[in-house]
Amino acid sequence: VRHVVATGSAVASIAASALPLSLPASGMAGGGPPAAGIRETQAIYPPGARPTLPRLAPLGQVFDTYIVAEGPDGLYIVDQHAAHERVLYERLLAAHRRGGVSEQLLAMPVPVELTPADAARVTAHRDHLASLGFDLEAFGARTVLIRAIPAQAAGAAPDALVQRAVAALGEEGDHDDAVERLAIATACHTAIRAGDRLGPDAITALLADLAATEDPFTCFHGRPTMVAAGRHELERWFLRG
Ligand SMILES: [Zn+2]
Repeated sequence: VRHVVATGSAVASIAASALPLSLPASGMAGGGPPAAGIRETQAIYPPGARPTLPRLAPLGQVFDTYIVAEGPDGLYIVDQHAAHERVLYERLLAAHRRGGVSEQLLAMPVPVELTPADAARVTAHRDHLASLGFDLEAFGARTVLIRAIPAQAAGAAPDALVQRAVAALGEEGDHDDAVERLAIATACHTAIRAGDRLGPDAITALLADLAATEDPFTCFHGRPTMVAAGRHELERWFLRG
């Protein structure tokens, strides 16, 4: 696997395009797009279709950033941050829809310094924040006391998480999508990062969690969570058949 990824010609073809896994394959065997290498899987599904991820057997991790796995139809390379982000984001919003994002209460309230504008947003968006599990209390013009954060984010440093989430409220967008922006910021901040070494159990769990999402193939930043190469692509790389 490392060879495939590191070889110059393979790298060139990986960059080229995307591959139609699990579809009756217009692109796999002629007739479709001129696929030369690993494809972004997102391109293959008709809009509105619920894409499903086949069962993947993990093979390992590359650069502590990508998970390499075998599927019934090909080789998959998963971006661990983008994948985990997708999982956390959907869980947060699903819990929000049910009205039940669990809070992680902090043993001691943690103070965090914000810009005056962000501190004002904490008050303006109090309900949005609370509905995602953030229990925050204004404490002076720039300081906010953190009493609870979303349970999904329990591993994150509360102060950095709150700074990031509240800053996301200041981005362009409607009041209506405040919850969405908070969920995105929380998921991005909390997710496994590039460079995190993962053990076999963590890799297996992440792939299973990703497969259970509504859209396993894209992250909310619009990037793919994975690329894949079908058996035919592999054969083409090695000039077989
Ligand atoms: Zn991110």
